[in-house]
Amino acid sequence: MQTVLSEEFIGTAEGEKAKEVIANCVHCGFCNATCPTYQILGDELDGPRGRIYLMKEMFEGKPVSEITQQHLDRCLTCRACETTCPSGVKYSELVDVGRRVMERKVERPLTERVKRWGLKEMVARPAVFSRAAAVGYTLKPLLPQSLKELLPDRPAKGRAEPTRTHARIMLVLDGCVQPSLTPQTNSAAIRVLDALGITLKRVPRAGCCGAVRHHLNDLEGAKTDARRNIDAWWPFIQSDQAEAIVSTASGCGVQLEHYADLLADDPDYAEKAQKIAGLSLDISLILQNELLAVDARTLPQTSSPLKIAVQEPCSFQHALRNKASISALLTRFGHTPVPVRDGHLCCGSAGTYSVLQPELSEQLRTNKIEALQVSSPDMIVTANVGCYGHLAAKAPIPIKHWIEVVDDIFSESETGASLQKLEA
Ligand code: SF4
Ligand code: SF4
Repeated sequence: MQTVLSEEFIGTAEGEKAKEVIANCVHCGFCNATCPTYQILGDELDGPRGRIYLMKEMFEGKPVSEITQQHLDRCLTCRACETTCPSGVKYSELVDVGRRVMERKVERPLTERVKRWGLKEMVARPAVFSRAAAVGYTLKPLLPQSLKELLPDRPAKGRAEPTRTHARIMLVLDGCVQPSLTPQTNSAAIRVLDALGITLKRVPRAGCCGAVRHHLNDLEGAKTDARRNIDAWWPFIQSDQAEAIVSTASGCGVQLEHYADLLADDPDYAEKAQKIAGLSLDISLILQNELLAVDARTLPQTSSPLKIAVQEPCSFQHALRNKASISALLTRFGHTPVPVRDGHLCCGSAGTYSVLQPELSEQLRTNKIEALQVSSPDMIVTANVGCYGHLAAKAPIPIKHWIEVVDDIFSESETGASLQKLEA
């Protein structure tokens, strides 16, 4: 589709980006078939094609209203439409600039502005979030159901993290909410990589990846988060001490990959951001690669094989287009991944979506939990802290990050055939 930019947008980065993305759309509507909000609401304007059209009109100078904004707000940014689109339309790049322009043009009611500000200032600050989560856990029995659901059960105290160090070092992103809600995930990743001869190092100065602020249209805030993380990691990268930046939350992994674009115009950070983005890897890819060097016959096998439903987060399958298969990894350790229905559809967590669009989010969660259980699994696994918390609040069966399942197997093997022997 051709966009005739209004005077306001001619020659601007936002206008040119919108024009470039929209030009690839042939208006075929294939994307509607896999859009979660279109499936629920059945309104063309709540599907990708309709949203693209709304943004085209905005960039052409047509008036926009809170109704237009609502159609964009209802988008999960799940990117299922990008996976489906035969023309390679980069919808997420369009909705990114479209939402920012919309934010300037349509003022939100005060309550909405306060809610969004609160999310940015609380969720994206690990120290603040951890204090709030501690209070939340203490008061959990007294909280209304809607707030209780935002706090998954308090994690059990996990096994100790290794103290030895290896010559091979990778850095792990702790992120903003994960240290409070699921600290067991990074502990598991640290133990698994330790068994494979890699030290996975935390760098305390690094914090939120910036996705929370980015998704709430605070681009400058997201850049500040990115610069802080780069500053924290750079000494290890510059000196070639660390070979990768590992994320155990696929949503954060997407943002890390985006650092190069985010800071492309920053003369002090553009090069560093590109390097960091290139070194960023999801833990699934690391494990898949490392296992290539292990004799398959010596891999530890679970003593309690389970039927496992794998929930591949949207960030994992549609944004990162991750080449590692969680199902294949779990199969190698003796578990049985089982078929799930509509695996391409979002669970409704989507960053802060569950707070900002509670009704739609709830419906998507109900659908997802049902779809994950069609093969009567014993357990659900995921690859992102947001999906974990969202699903764990209602799932009737246990849910874990998949790396915790691998960690359980590795820890069992230490009492029998130790992994050190397996590696030899
Ligand atoms: S599938 Fe792609 S080309 Fe077709 S309408 Fe959707 S975004 Fe446009
Ligand atoms: S990102 Fe997801 S919710 Fe948004 S238009 Fe695309 S498929 Fe629909």
